Amino acid sequence: MPTYSYIAEDPEKGCPSCRRGFDLRRPMDRAPLEVCPLCKKPVKKLVAGFNTPKYTKPLSVSDAKKAGFTILEKRCDGSYEKL
Ligand SMILES: [Zn+2]
Repeated sequence: MPTYSYIAEDPEKGCPSCRRGFDLRRPMDRAPLEVCPLCKKPVKKLVAGFNTPKYTKPLSVSDAKKAGFTILEKRCDGSYEKL
């Protein structure tokens, strides 16, 4: 499953998660995410290799799970941990 990075289209209006950007792993056959799963504000997909801002936590895990997402935390060694 590919991992996509998203960030709020308008960081002024986003919640703390999408304002800084977050990663989501989604099946290929699912439509691209268009709104933040937490605050429902428009988000845009970041192109891989794009210079993304650094952040600590992608999303509140419980909230994201409620929204039906699989959340992966990026470890310092570059691997992902399924939460
Ligand atoms: Zn948001």
